[in-house]
Amino acid sequence: MNGVLYVHNVTQTKNWYSNEVSLLETSNQEVNASLVQRLLFKVARRWVSGNTYKNALSIAKECNSKGISAILNYLGEDTTDNIIIENTIEEYLSLLDKIQSNRIEGCISVKPTQVGLRISYDMSLNNFRKIARKAKSLGRFMWMDIESSQFVEDTIATYLDLSRDYKHSTGLAIQSYLRRSSSDLLHLIEQEANVRLVKGAYREDKTSAFQSMEKINSNFSKLMSMLFEHSYSSHSTFAIATHDPKLLDEAIQLSRKYDADCRKFEFQLLMGIHNEMKEKLVKKGFRVSEYIPYGKLWLPYSLRRIKERKRNILLLARSIIQS
Ligand SMILES: Cc1cc2nc3c(=O)[nH]c(=O)nc-3n(C[C@H](O)[C@H](O)[C@H](O)COP(=O)(O)OP(=O)(O)OC[C@H]3O[C@@H](n4cnc5c(N)ncnc54)[C@H](O)[C@@H]3O)c2cc1C
Repeated sequence: MNGVLYVHNVTQTKNWYSNEVSLLETSNQEVNASLVQRLLFKVARRWVSGNTYKNALSIAKECNSKGISAILNYLGEDTTDNIIIENTIEEYLSLLDKIQSNRIEGCISVKPTQVGLRISYDMSLNNFRKIARKAKSLGRFMWMDIESSQFVEDTIATYLDLSRDYKHSTGLAIQSYLRRSSSDLLHLIEQEANVRLVKGAYREDKTSAFQSMEKINSNFSKLMSMLFEHSYSSHSTFAIATHDPKLLDEAIQLSRKYDADCRKFEFQLLMGIHNEMKEKLVKKGFRVSEYIPYGKLWLPYSLRRIKERKRNILLLARSIIQS
């Protein structure tokens, strides 16, 4: 991001402080909003490639040179602003052209609430269709990210609707922290869906989600076994998206059991996390992709990454104290 700070919306930023990072509450009284945002930005740069698609393509090329594919995501979510939604569609359509003309080995990943799911199911479905149509015409793949539980039902329905026309060029993420995910996955497997398995990144209550890491991990193992067992014999593909070394090892063991040439599924990891692991997996012969976000709306995504690990919160706290 060349050290340039983009202050997109201070009100939104303040909401995020109060809703998402209680750690910042005390600091917020003492430090002004733009200073806190500047410090957040310094930490966030690790996970976000930059403000424009050029930054993302540059990281994608670096990944490709190491045998790693790219999954490009234009940052943004939870919007009801029609102009932002229209711009987002345009951005993805033009991004797909850029991926193609730059001969990037990669695809895109889109959040339902950045293309209108907060407004209506039909709007989001129509917008996804536009992007999926373009992706398919270029022989590219479109993943659908999955967001907080209130959007899960509609996201799965959208995927199933889309997959009638775009079965081999779209896929959907499923979260192991959600109690409902094993029945969702069974249904998706029956439909030969392309699934990315993740742990889940949003705050959920205990009625809908497992709260302990132990249960989230054991559900991840269970869902991963279902994917290996059933998807190997189908035409679908799947992705194991975690940085957890124990689960990655389990996936490697399962792949040996089900598929000697390791090409049926891929590992997906986020930009800025465990780069060494990505290269190790490539050397072992696995397909690996890196999820590379870009864009000016970096705050919500970055706060999720910060909260994921105590050390990141300490890093942020340290930079606030030192400022
Ligand atoms: C490709 C990809 C796509 C994703 N898509 C979605 C999605 O659509 N919806 C959704 O809800 N979630 C998504 N996620 C996020 C996911 O749900 C988790 O929040 C995230 O991956 C962290 O969980 P983990 O599986 O790595 O396990 P964890 O147990 O959280 O982490 C395992 C290890 O990874 C490292 N690590 C993890 N996170 C960080 C971090 N932020 N900073 C530094 N090190 C870290 C640490 O060493 C940690 O010990 C996606 C993740 C990936 C990799």
